[in-house]
Amino acid sequence: MDKSILKSIADTFNDSVYVYNGDQIQSQFSRLKNAFSGIDRLQINYACKALSNISILGLMNSMGTGLDTVSVQEVQLGIKAGFDPKKIIFTPNGVSMEEIEEVASLGVQINIDNLSVLEQFGSKHPKIPVCIRINPHVMAGGNSNISVGHIDSKFGISIHQIPHIIRIVENTKMRINGVHMHTGSDILDIEVFLHAAEILFDTALKFKNLDFIDFGSGFKVPYTDNDIETNIEELGEKLTKRFNEFCDNYGKKLNLAFEPGKFLVSQAGYFLTRVNSIKQTTSTVFAQVNSGFNHLIRPMFYGSHHDIINISNPKGKERFYTVVGYICETDTFGSNRKIAEINEGDILMFKNAGAYCFTMSSNYNSRFRPAEVLWHNNRAHTIRKQETLDDLISNQILIDFSEKVEIN
Ligand SMILES: *Cc1c(COP(=O)(O)O)cnc(C)c1O
Repeated sequence: MDKSILKSIADTFNDSVYVYNGDQIQSQFSRLKNAFSGIDRLQINYACKALSNISILGLMNSMGTGLDTVSVQEVQLGIKAGFDPKKIIFTPNGVSMEEIEEVASLGVQINIDNLSVLEQFGSKHPKIPVCIRINPHVMAGGNSNISVGHIDSKFGISIHQIPHIIRIVENTKMRINGVHMHTGSDILDIEVFLHAAEILFDTALKFKNLDFIDFGSGFKVPYTDNDIETNIEELGEKLTKRFNEFCDNYGKKLNLAFEPGKFLVSQAGYFLTRVNSIKQTTSTVFAQVNSGFNHLIRPMFYGSHHDIINISNPKGKERFYTVVGYICETDTFGSNRKIAEINEGDILMFKNAGAYCFTMSSNYNSRFRPAEVLWHNNRAHTIRKQETLDDLISNQILIDFSEKVEIN
């Protein structure tokens, strides 16, 4: 996105701000759609835990995506943003039966990943069709935190437990209308993905009334200029062929669903923050920004890389900096980074700040969470205002301490 536009947006806020480029979200969506243009019934459900501002959800709805949700609150946000509940899928893990029932009553597709829940839900609501989340036990994903397909993962029903699923379905007379997998984030190896897909096809053959097969997500996006990414086009070509063969074999045209989060929004997001001070120690030059892991926790939480660019001095001579925040804990955004010379007051731009950035922000250190801006139709729209002290205290209650008590 144009640096001068970002700079002018940063200048209008006196605190850190997230900016999302709607055009980039749209082009990622088109890219995915085009890669799977050989599929008659393609359903792309945006995994909204990546970035859940209701204007982002509204944009997704206007483009024609469905929604992948993990909490009843995400479902409610989606409905508020205009989604038809029929285009929402609920893929929770470890939530209460009441929550699942509440979401089902809204007309949302339920996806169950636990045998005990399947049995309880099927016994009580045999008329509501459900999707089952399978764990194919394929090791995939960028690191052990985000890889969720391994044998000891808490996600999904083990592929070895299919006989038990079938027993529950027979006993309860419930209907399974979809099979699903999601094996982790940052999957690079298409062959691994296709291998997991074959396991899902084998599973699908065991259920005669399916409407869809959901291949989850986990597409890797590039984090630096020369970084590798999932080859969506190649995956599209190979999976389309296999999926269409499968449908012929199954005897019915099924929907092919995906639920990308990161792929749609990661690169469209820019986090902008101001440099408060430059501090030199015996070994390091620190650039201290007006932010911390209260705003962007991925580098500290996952060791994630975000490119950092000085948009106030883009042509400046490059020097080495360690970029840190203002939180009273170690909060390093990037160590020993080559960045165009930084002066106090400059605006730094963090790339790949669309997915799992704002949604993981907090009020730690009693700081305000950042504002959010959507660039749409060549205009900057504020889609979340900056917080104020009222937001911090709105749910807090100061009780009366005027009554004297003796403290021994
Ligand atoms: C988080 C999540 C996704 C999205 O994963 P990305 O790596 O952001 O694409 C998809 N499906 C489920 C079930 C998820 O929990």
